[in-house]
This record gives sequence, structure tokens and C-alpha cells, in this order.
Amino acid sequence: MPTCGSRYSTRNSPGVYAEALGALIVRENGDGKPPSTVVLLPHTYQVAEFAPQLALRLGAAYVPSISEAAADGRGGLCFQRSILQAKLQAEVRPRTRAVVATVQSGAFSSDEAPAPPGRVVEVCLPADMQGQPERETLGRVAASAGGVDLPGAERIVTAGRGVGGADEVSVAADLATALGAELGASRPVVDNGWLPREHQVGSSGHTVAPDLYVALGVSGSIQHLMGMSGSRIIVAVNKDPEAPIFSVAQYGIVGDLHEVAPALTRLLNERAGR
Ligand SMILES: Cc1cc2nc3c(=O)[nH]c(=O)nc-3n(C[C@H](O)[C@H](O)[C@H](O)COP(=O)(O)OP(=O)(O)OC[C@H]3O[C@@H](n4cnc5c(N)ncnc54)[C@H](O)[C@@H]3O)c2cc1C
Repeated sequence: MPTCGSRYSTRNSPGVYAEALGALIVRENGDGKPPSTVVLLPHTYQVAEFAPQLALRLGAAYVPSISEAAADGRGGLCFQRSILQAKLQAEVRPRTRAVVATVQSGAFSSDEAPAPPGRVVEVCLPADMQGQPERETLGRVAASAGGVDLPGAERIVTAGRGVGGADEVSVAADLATALGAELGASRPVVDNGWLPREHQVGSSGHTVAPDLYVALGVSGSIQHLMGMSGSRIIVAVNKDPEAPIFSVAQYGIVGDLHEVAPALTRLLNERAGR
């Protein structure tokens, strides 16, 4: 959004985003009243800073971090989101005319989206934004070393309980390294302390949609599938041919992951000349 010569920096000011977007939405609504509209934004750190303020500006309900949206059959919308550290799944039915919702990364596959009918419009910020408070930095906290970026990953290899223990997670980690992939985990792997929580995929973990998702010893519970079924290609290795993970996998290998995964790792390393 260009500032058209404005001397106000938008970079550090969530208030400017909220004010500019709010003014734009009200203006597009035509009658100057708070609109009956649904504003969908990505659930990112930057958006989380200004979306509640935007909702306030529009008199809208704020529904953060949704994973599903559907018509409620009564002319309104119904959203799904995890609450209480994702121990529960909440159904939210806003009663307001306007809604501002942020969408979890990977919750919807872009393959299913129709070509957008809209057009891109360049808009100038209103000049009267002096009143918007700048953000105050109270302190800085260093990010943990070796951070995991599951939502942004193009490839993920996930260790399920089937890997067998903390010492055995390396079988998945080695394959992830050979593939240039991030390492994911099912919830029992995290609950057992075999991997930190930031690796968890599923309804109470990350929602992901990589190009390639390799599930090693993952049964395919509904909670796990909720977090990864939007992946483009799913490869599952499981010794149980009836495991539900095979119902979403394009490629299924029925076998012992401790034989299959090292063989794949070896092959990839050989091909890469490692
Ligand atoms: C509110 C709530 C939220 C939850 N959130 C999540 C979440 O975010 N993510 C999540 O993952 N789960 C979540 N769960 C837990 C979920 O219900 C399942 O318990 C969990 O996904 C099972 O993990 P798993 O597939 O690794 O383990 P299991 O279901 O125990 O499956 C292990 C699989 O490994 C296979 N296996 C075993 N040994 C081998 C071997 N040597 N070679 C090949 N295959 C082998 C077995 O056949 C089995 O299919 C949640 C549950 C609740 C109630």
C-alpha cells in the first residue's frame, strides 16, 4: 500500500494498517456505514498486531486463527478454531454484520480456489494519520536456535509414534536431511518428549501444506489429518495396511519404517553423491 508522499512510516505501526484498511473497507462499502463484510487475512505475526484493531474499527467480530469456514445455514458463517492449547475445537458463529478472521497457514489448499474475480487496486493512505500511535519496543528476546518453520516448508518428514522412541527419531531426521525437509512430529512423539512441541503437526499443532509430506509410523488420526491433508503429495510408511493414513496418501509403503526410511535415505544420499 503506497503512502503517496506521506511522511508516516507504516512499517512499525499496526494502527496505520488498521486505520487505512478500515477506511478503505468503509469507503468501498459505499454508504459510509460499517460494512456487512467478511475480511479474511493470513494468520501472521504482523496481521495479529493490527487485525483486532481493524475489527474494532469496523464494529466487526474478530475470529483469529480459523481452520475452517462454512455457511451456517441461517445466512451467517460458522468458523472452526482450536482453543485451550488446541485441546478443544471451537465453533464460532459471529452475530455481527462484519467479521475479521485470520486464517491458519495451510488450512485451505490453493488448488481448490477458483481464479479470483477481483482486481488489484493501488490505494493511497489518507494523510491524517498523525494520531496513530507508533509501536513501542519494550525489549528483545532472541529466537531459539535452529527454529523450525513447518508452515513455510516445501517438504516435511514426520515421525509418528511408530518410530518407537526418542533414540529412534533419527531415522526420520536423517531422511529429512537427505530430502532437504523439515522434521515434523505427531502428538504422541511430542507428548513423550521425543521432539519439542514446535515440530507438532495436527489440530493442536501446525497446519501444513507442503509439496511433499512423508509420514513415518503415523496412523492417520483425524487430528493429525486435519493438520496435513492439504499437502500436495503424501507418502506414508506404515506396517499396518489398514492404517487410515493410507486413505489420504498418494504413495503408500506397507513395511517396517526402520527398513524403508534408511533405504530411502541411502538412495537419496547416493544420488546426491554424499
Ligand atoms: C484434542 C486432541 C488434539 C490432538 N491433536 C493432535 C495433533 O495436533 N497431532 C497429532 O498427531 N495428534 C493429535 N492428537 C492425537 C491423535 O488422536 C492420535 O492419538 C495421534 O495422532 C496418533 O499419533 P501416531 O499416529 O503417531 O501414533 P499411533 O496412532 O500410535 O500410530 C502409530 C502407527 O505407527 C505404525 N507403526 C508402528 N511401528 C511401525 C514400524 N516399525 N514401521 C512402520 N509403521 C509402524 C502403527 O501401525 C501405527 O499405525 C490429538 C488428540 C486430541 C484428543
